[in-house]
Amino acid sequence: MERYDAVVVGGGPAGSMAARRLAEGGAKVLLLEKRPEFGQVVQCAEGISHRSLTLYFEPEPRFIASVIDEARFYSPDGEHFTVRKEGVGYVLERKIFDRYVAQTAAEAGAELLTKAQFTHLNRRNGLWEVSFIHGGREERVEARLVIGADGPGSKVGRQAGLNLDIPPEDYHYALEYFLVHPAVEDGRIDFFVGDWCCWKGYGWSFPKGGHYGNVGVGVALLPEGKSPRDYLETFVSHYFKGAKVMGFTSSVVPVGGHRLQIYSDGIMVVGDAARLAEPISGGGIPAALISGSVAGEVGAEALKEGDLSARRLKEYHDRFWDIMNRREYELAYEVRRAFLRMDDEDLRYVFAKLKPLFDGRELDEIDAFKWARYIFTKAPDLLLFAARKAGPAFVDYLRRAVGL
Ligand SMILES: Cc1cc2nc3c(=O)[nH]c(=O)nc-3n(C[C@H](O)[C@H](O)[C@H](O)COP(=O)(O)OP(=O)(O)OC[C@H]3O[C@@H](n4cnc5c(N)ncnc54)[C@H](O)[C@@H]3O)c2cc1C
Repeated sequence: MERYDAVVVGGGPAGSMAARRLAEGGAKVLLLEKRPEFGQVVQCAEGISHRSLTLYFEPEPRFIASVIDEARFYSPDGEHFTVRKEGVGYVLERKIFDRYVAQTAAEAGAELLTKAQFTHLNRRNGLWEVSFIHGGREERVEARLVIGADGPGSKVGRQAGLNLDIPPEDYHYALEYFLVHPAVEDGRIDFFVGDWCCWKGYGWSFPKGGHYGNVGVGVALLPEGKSPRDYLETFVSHYFKGAKVMGFTSSVVPVGGHRLQIYSDGIMVVGDAARLAEPISGGGIPAALISGSVAGEVGAEALKEGDLSARRLKEYHDRFWDIMNRREYELAYEVRRAFLRMDDEDLRYVFAKLKPLFDGRELDEIDAFKWARYIFTKAPDLLLFAARKAGPAFVDYLRRAVGL
């Protein structure tokens, strides 16, 4: 049986980054991807901030579909306000981006295997035996370290004994059309709320050039008898009536990984497999890149030291949460919980408070704490509102978190 230092399962951004860092650190690494090509099917609206992308990559035109200068926020009734910041983010062409990240792993020396579907994991004498189906046959390799980057439906972590269960409210059900409609405007991303169209979540329009874009909804805690698709149809037929649909995709985005242990002896899980997406937006590309990068770096160092114990790999957890800013993630998680308890009347109230503070405004920087402080200083009754919605403990937490 062929032996590797490390096997990475899943060739999305998290897995490719992990394989790249392991190879750069001198490890013999195998990256397994079940699909025939890297980046072949991407379930994503493809938005990413400039700050997150440029942590590791230059914004190269070949994988950027649109540069974002404006964001527009809609109330449940279709009123809106717009904020501006030049080049604040991008809508990627993830088919090309994901393939490019995998290419950097290959260039660093990782072995890549497509049409290789991981099936199971066994621990024997301190080594992992990793089984997968390739070319219709079961194959097996040995590895000292395994990284689970197999997305939201991850099997790797669980088979390694990690408890990655999260409550139902920590799942965004996200689905979208790729469509053409005059309301999709290049350079501007739009966000929509309202239980009637985007139950306990939000709708989006992310442009990809001209009037083409990703238009969808992320919903949560659905009422009996309703499916996520019902909301997508209602949303699109209202705001994008007559759209020319060119494609569709759907998946789930799990959040709340800050409460989980995402490493153990000889194993780390990264990206969606570790439930690390940003809690409010469900944006998971940044966490995938960061967790993959840090897990790969820590893995390479631990392999050299010959210590793959949970105690050694905890450095992955610590360094990841330093870069991700754990306090900001926790704040977003608590705000999401309050948001899940709001109905359309509440959303109208919040919108009416925010519109005069932000409409037409040029934002100088994107800093969650700064803006939360600004909002609660200018509209202190939103704190009372939050207390009513989510309880006084939440407000205490909020005051401490944003330094009020
Ligand atoms: C509709 C929708 C819109 C979204 N919009 C955004 C957005 O605008 N911005 C943003 O930041 N995030 C967005 N997200 C979330 C984002 O897509 C994910 O968080 C991100 O892709 C996570 O990266 P990952 O590498 O962890 O997992 P994935 O990208 O899911 O990659 C996992 C890989 O593992 C492979 N795999 C799975 N099982 C196996 C197996 N058994 N064997 C081998 N390979 C396997 C899969 O084929 C896949 O290639 C969206 C999600 C959805 C569903």
